[in-house]
Order: sequence, then structure tokens, then C-alpha cells
Amino acid sequence: MPEHQTLQEIALQAKSPFELRVDLGKNVPESDVRSALTTGDMGFLHSFTTGSTLDGPGIRVVAWTSGCQWRCLYCHNPDTWKMTNGLPVRVERAAEELRKYRHGLKTMAGGFTLSGGEPLLQHRFAVKLFTAAKSMGIHTALDTNGNLGFRLTDEDLQSIDLVLLDIKTWDPERHRRLARRLGALHRPIWLRYVLVPGLTDDCEDIARVAGFAAWIGNVERVDVLPFHQMGRYKWKELGLEYELEGVAPPSNEVVESACAVFRKAGLKAF
Ligand code: SF4
Repeated sequence: MPEHQTLQEIALQAKSPFELRVDLGKNVPESDVRSALTTGDMGFLHSFTTGSTLDGPGIRVVAWTSGCQWRCLYCHNPDTWKMTNGLPVRVERAAEELRKYRHGLKTMAGGFTLSGGEPLLQHRFAVKLFTAAKSMGIHTALDTNGNLGFRLTDEDLQSIDLVLLDIKTWDPERHRRLARRLGALHRPIWLRYVLVPGLTDDCEDIARVAGFAAWIGNVERVDVLPFHQMGRYKWKELGLEYELEGVAPPSNEVVESACAVFRKAGLKAF
């Protein structure tokens, strides 16, 4: 960031989530980071984007949190891994940003999605922002890998209309606990499965995920997300070793085959 620019002046809206953002919160004292995580009064956000049609129903405003404990090989936003890469934003400022769009979001049957990174690393901030959105009558969705779902109380879950659950692979307990709770609470889930050739395209693994998703009972749809290379440059810029350099996106036929496995289990898959 230019020397003269203050944190308040940095636009919450990035050109896209693919805009590389680093070290925006690096000067925030460690004690302030801890306090933010404890109270949820402040969060670290990579950016806001508007007009998304891929992150829940209708047209969405998406806030991308920074901070993630996972290191998925196909992650297209590795600049969101480190929390202090994000912009420190008070919950009131984030809510004000949302307020600008509230009428349009209702008209377009859309809403607000909190994605990341992994939003539940900042679960108190997430719940405060969802509660603010709900008080404006905005539909809310949480995009999560589910690993930290235990941090949310049943009451917290009431502020989240939809969970976009990113199933990374057939890795039993990591994803399943939150899914089971959401099932028991009858909270809707959209399951998201990134299809990476040679990594997550094993039909038997997909069938296990599909069987589990069908068993939960409240998975409304499954989105099979074809792997792409749009985040490759970020790995390079960050000096990270990128193992999927030579991997091509899956063909339409392979994506359709994965969808067919989910459909066979009685799910709607796209
Ligand atoms: S969970 Fe999401 S943000 Fe975290 S490494 Fe995986 S793809 Fe990236």
C-alpha cells in the first residue's frame, strides 16, 4: 500500500477476490489482534465483492475474510491464509458497507455471503456481521470448510440462513461434525466440491461424499466446482511452491460424471 494511504482509505472492494492483497494488517499490534478475535468487534477482511452469482442464491455481496489453517493445494487465494494480510475492519464499517446494498439484494433475491479464507477463524466477528445483516433483512450465507464449526453455538447458527459447506475430500471427521449438527438443526446446506483431476476426482471417494451428503438429509444442492488455474500467479507472487502447475481443468465430461455420482445418491448436482 502507498505510504500515505491510511487503513481507512483502502477500499473494501477489491477488483476481484483474485486481487493479491498482502500485509494490510501487519502493523496491528498482536494484543489488538487477540482482542479482535475475542470480541469480534474487528475482523480482518481480504475484500468485499459485489454481484456474485456463485456464492449462494441470487446476487450476492461477498466479504472474504483472511486467515485459514488449511493449505489446500488448489487454493486460489493463498493471500487469504495469513490473517494480517487482510484489512482490519471494525464490524460497524463492514455492516455499513452491507447497508449500501440492502435494497438491491432484496430485490434480486440475493444476500450476503461470508467466505474466505476460513471465516470461522474469526467466528465472533462472523456472527456479529451476520446478526447485523439479518437485522437489515438480508439473507445470510456462510462459506466454510466446517472444521471449526464447533465454535458456533446453536443460537449462532440461527443467524446463518444457509451454509455453503466445502467438502475438500473424503476426510472423515474434519467436515462431518458440522454437517451432522446442521442436519439435526434442519439448517439448509449447499455442498461444494472442488473437482481437481488426479486429486479429488476418484469416483469411489465422490460416491462416499455423496452417500454422506444424502444421509444428512438437508443438502439442498451440490455444486461441483471445476478446478481452475486463476490463482496460480498468487502462489508465485507469494513465493509458494505450487504443486498443481501442470494440472488442466477437468473436462465437461468429467464434471458431468462427478455430478452423476451425486445425482445417483438422490442429490441435485450442478
Ligand atoms: S480452506 Fe479455502 S482458503 Fe483455506 S486453503 Fe483451502 S481453499 Fe484456501
